[in-house]
Amino acid sequence: MSVTQAAAYAAPAPKAPLERTTVPRRPVGEHDVLIEIKFAGICHSDIHQARDGWGEGIFPMVPGHEIAGVVAEVGSGVTRFAVGDRIGVGCLVDSCRECEYCLAGQEQHCVRGATGTYNALDRGGEPTYGGYSTHLVVDENYAVHIPEGLSLDAAAPLLCAGITLYSPLRHWQAGPGRKVAIVGLGGLGHIGVKIAAALGAEVTVLSQSLRKKDDGLRLGAAHYYATGDAATFEELKGRFDLIVSTVSAPLGLDRYLSLLRVGGALVNVGAPEEPVELNLFSVLGGNKTLAGSMIGGIAETQEMLDFCAEHGLGADIEVIRAEDVNEAYERVLSSDVRYRFVIDASTI
Ligand code: NAP
Ligand code: ZN
Ligand code: ZN
Repeated sequence: MSVTQAAAYAAPAPKAPLERTTVPRRPVGEHDVLIEIKFAGICHSDIHQARDGWGEGIFPMVPGHEIAGVVAEVGSGVTRFAVGDRIGVGCLVDSCRECEYCLAGQEQHCVRGATGTYNALDRGGEPTYGGYSTHLVVDENYAVHIPEGLSLDAAAPLLCAGITLYSPLRHWQAGPGRKVAIVGLGGLGHIGVKIAAALGAEVTVLSQSLRKKDDGLRLGAAHYYATGDAATFEELKGRFDLIVSTVSAPLGLDRYLSLLRVGGALVNVGAPEEPVELNLFSVLGGNKTLAGSMIGGIAETQEMLDFCAEHGLGADIEVIRAEDVNEAYERVLSSDVRYRFVIDASTI
């Protein structure tokens, strides 16, 4: 099987609606696998980029970095995958493989710049096109195995949302005896609740309203508060060991830092298009940490998938037809997602 052109959904220009098109896929090289994509999750980062909210976008753009599929062909030097394997690709498709971070399994921090799955130029200078597509060719070293226990549709969002929450929750030791708050119950947030609960932490959701409270408790939270209610910040002052913010819009961090215990950490994973305001006194008192976290490396992504399979934990999804992608974007923008849209690639 050889695929040189794949059907895809692309944004032709910043802020333009996505439409069906075809994109080139490179011939399968020695260390490459050809993936028949089955499902692609819609991450809020897709929307930021398709609307050029982070700037310097490459158009036409085929978003999608939560990719689950099946291996359709392998190159002669491929050792980790065979035809028919269930395979996942996240935010990265290459990196320099030599720098200290690549060697440490933190390819996302490659000093020469990791190659994004889309909206990037590959090592040969060609644009990369993401997962809203029928096929993808990728180096086997930047793909992971999707364990049998996970269905491909519910697994797809784990490739970005899952690793983005798993990595900081592990790093900052979410676990038994620790009080963890997740801010924002969207795609990232709902998986964060599931993973933090599976790690044994006492989880609280901080959402704008109580609209999704029943879901939050079902997903594994012990407590659920509305940040739209000023009393929340009085009641929860000094409560948490760890807060992870997944909010996609600029968020005043001072109020959230006040909710940490002495020595606690607020880890931001949201990537808003505008800067946020911060009064540094919010971290001085209480020796608090304000940190960031960006996705995770390939090996840790595999570890996360194995963890999720072991705990029977996938994303809560709404599977859509590709032609409904623009409508899904609008719903994500209005926080009307329960809790990840996933494109059925057979409809592309
Ligand atoms: P999402 O599904 O839209 O979830 C974001 C949630 O934030 C919303 O559901 C909403 O939750 C809350 N929110 C939205 N606007 C808000 C506002 N103005 N004030 C307060 N809360 C608000 O998005 P996502 O896919 O989870 O992505 C979240 C952010 O993380 C995006 O900026 C994305 O680009 C970024 N991201 C970062 C990484 C990384 O590596 N660090 C990886 C993936 C994504 P409630 O309705 O519960 O309030
Ligand atoms: Zn993402
Ligand atoms: Zn590197």
